[in-house]
Amino acid sequence: MGTKQFKAESKRLLDLMINSIYTNKEIFLRELISNASDAIDKLYYRSLTDKNVKVDPSKLEIEIEIDKENRNLIIKDNGCGMTEKELETNLGTIAKSGSLAFKEQNEKKEDIDIIGQFGVGFYSAFMVSDKVTVESKSIDSDQANKWESKGAEGYTIEPSDKSEVGTTITLHIKEDTEDEKYSEYLDQYKIQELVKRYSDYIRYPIKMDIEHSRKKEGTENEYEKVVETETINSMVPIWKRDKNKVTKEEYNNFYTEKFSDYAEPLKVIHTSVEGQFSYKALLYIPSHLPYDYYSKDYEKGLQLYSNGVLIMDKCSDLLPDYFRFVKGLVDSPDLSLNISREMLQHDRQLKVIAKNIENKIKSELQNMLKNDRETYEKFFNIFGIQLKYGTYSDYGINKDKLKDLLMFYSSTEKKLVTLGEYVSRMKEGQDKIYYACGESVDKIDMLPQVDSIKGKDYEILYLTADVDEFVMQILQDYEGKKFANVCANDVDIETAEEKEETKKENEENKAMFDIMKEAIDGKVQDIRFTHKLKNHPVCLTSEGALSVEMEKVLNSMPNGQGVKAQTVLEINIDHPIVEKLKSLYENNKEDLKEYTKILYAQARLIEGLPIENPTEISNLVCKMISK
Ligand code: ADP
Repeated sequence: MGTKQFKAESKRLLDLMINSIYTNKEIFLRELISNASDAIDKLYYRSLTDKNVKVDPSKLEIEIEIDKENRNLIIKDNGCGMTEKELETNLGTIAKSGSLAFKEQNEKKEDIDIIGQFGVGFYSAFMVSDKVTVESKSIDSDQANKWESKGAEGYTIEPSDKSEVGTTITLHIKEDTEDEKYSEYLDQYKIQELVKRYSDYIRYPIKMDIEHSRKKEGTENEYEKVVETETINSMVPIWKRDKNKVTKEEYNNFYTEKFSDYAEPLKVIHTSVEGQFSYKALLYIPSHLPYDYYSKDYEKGLQLYSNGVLIMDKCSDLLPDYFRFVKGLVDSPDLSLNISREMLQHDRQLKVIAKNIENKIKSELQNMLKNDRETYEKFFNIFGIQLKYGTYSDYGINKDKLKDLLMFYSSTEKKLVTLGEYVSRMKEGQDKIYYACGESVDKIDMLPQVDSIKGKDYEILYLTADVDEFVMQILQDYEGKKFANVCANDVDIETAEEKEETKKENEENKAMFDIMKEAIDGKVQDIRFTHKLKNHPVCLTSEGALSVEMEKVLNSMPNGQGVKAQTVLEINIDHPIVEKLKSLYENNKEDLKEYTKILYAQARLIEGLPIENPTEISNLVCKMISK
C-alpha cells in the first residue's frame, strides 16, 4: 500500500507540531485521552439507542501502557473505533472545525496560538513522537485497519488483525534532545501526574500497570518489584463534584480542554438544582471573543448530558441568543436518552431548565457588576454588544431583562456606567437621559451640542456602537426618564427668556434664512438661531425619528436605502458670525450665500458627515482667505 499525502493544510499543521517550540507539549496526552473518552461515549450512546449494539458498561475503559524498551507509549480504548474511511478523513485532514480558522489565522498569529486555539487534538501526538500508529476497528465494520505516519511525508493505511472494537494508538516517543527530555513520557509517575492533572474527571477508568516495590515476604530488607493494574483517575465528572472541593485550576483546565480555548475563562458558574427537575450545570464565560463568534460557523449551545452520558453536543435551546457566548454543559438525570433534537425542542423539562439557566447567568452577571466591577467591564467590552443586540432585537421583547446589564460611556465619569447609575445622579429638574452619538468618545466630546450640555454640568452618555441608538429607541425610557439625543431637537435646555429671544430673532430674520436655505438647495429643513451652543458657531440638529447617526448606520448596511435624516442648521445666536450674516444680508447677498455654504459644510463635518461638494467648499474658503 502506497504512502498517502496529508491534505495541504494538515501538512502545515503537522509541520508545526513536529517542529513545535510549544512548551506545553504534555497536553498531547489529555488530547488523546479525551478522544478515547469521546469514542467510548459514542459507543455507549449507540448501545442505548440501537438494539443491535450491545455493550457491557462495566468494561468500558481506557488503558495506558508504557513500553520503555521500545520507547512506546500506548493509549487504548474500547470505544466506537474508526472505519478505513474514517481513519482517512479524521486523521488525514485536520479537524474540520478548526481548519478554516487555521487558514485564516495562520498568516497573522504565532504558532503557539494555533496549537492552543484550535484544539488540534490528535496531531499533538507528533509533538512528542516520531511515529504514530493507530489501529482501529469500528463498530460498523468487520475489518480493522492500521494507520501509520512518521509525520510530514504522509501516512499509510493497511488492514490489521485487531479483533476487538476500539482504537489503539501507539506513540513512538522521540529521542531526548538538549532542550527536551521526551523520555519522561515513558515514566509511569509522569504519566500518572498528567492524567491526574488534565484527565481526572474522565468518567471511564483510565487503567495503567503501576510498578511498586514491596518488601519480600519473610525477609528483612529485600524488596521485589510487583506490578498492579490501577485506575489512575478519579472518574467523577467535575460538575458532579462539590464545588467547594474543585480548584480554580481544575475548572480552568476542564474548560480549556473541553471547549478548545487557549485562554482561561473570565467566569465559571457551577450550579446544582434539586427539585421538580434536577440538574447540574457548569457554565463558562470566555475571556475573549471566540475567533468565529460573528461568523455563521459559530453555534451557540450547551452540552447536554443525561446522568453523565453525553446526549447532545450543542443544545441550542438551552441558551437564549443574547447569552450565546456562554459555553458549558448541563447534566440532568431526568432526561430521556432517546430524545431527538426535534423532540427536545418541545420538551417541557428542557424549557424549565433553559429558563433557570438564563436566570442564573443573568443573576451572576448582575452580581459581577455589583461586586467585581473590573471583571464586568472586561466582560462588557467583549460581549456587551451582544447584550445590546439582545435588547434591540425581536422588537425589544427582552429589553426589560437586559437593560440593567447595559453600560455606556459617561461624559462625567469617563468610564462605562449603567443606566441605573446615570439616573441615580441626575440633576434636580433634569427629566431626560442625555446621550450623544459618534464614532469615538473623542469625536463625540467635540460635538458643539455636547459641549454646551456639558457646560451646563449634565452627564451625557456617549454612544459609539452602531446599535446603541437603536437600543435607546427601543428602550424609550429608563425608570420613567426618557432618552434624549443632544444632537436632535428633543433636547431643550434654553430658558424661557432665551426661547423668547430666539423666537423673535428667528421671525425677524426669516427673509435672510430663506436666502440662506436656497443657497444650500434646501438641504436642511430649517435654519434658525439657537442658544444651546456654547462656543461653536453652528451645528446640525436632527428632527424626527431618524438621527444623523442612524442615517450613517443605515446607509452603511448592504441594503442601505439611502435614507436621510431631516436636519436643521442651527446658528449660535451669541456668536459674532450672527452680526456678520446680518450685515451681509443687507449689503452683499452673494457673499451671504457663499458663507452659508461654508457654514453648512462645517456643520456636516463636525457631525462626521461627508461634504457633498468638497471642491466648491475648498475654493470658497480659499477665496475668503485671499480677501
Ligand atoms: P477533534 O477531537 O477535535 O475532533 P482530533 O484531531 O483529535 O480532533 O480527532 C479527529 C477525529 O478523529 C475525531 O473527531 C474522532 O472522530 C476521530 N478520533 C480520534 N481519536 C479517536 C479514537 N480514539 N476513537 C475513535 N475516533 C477517534
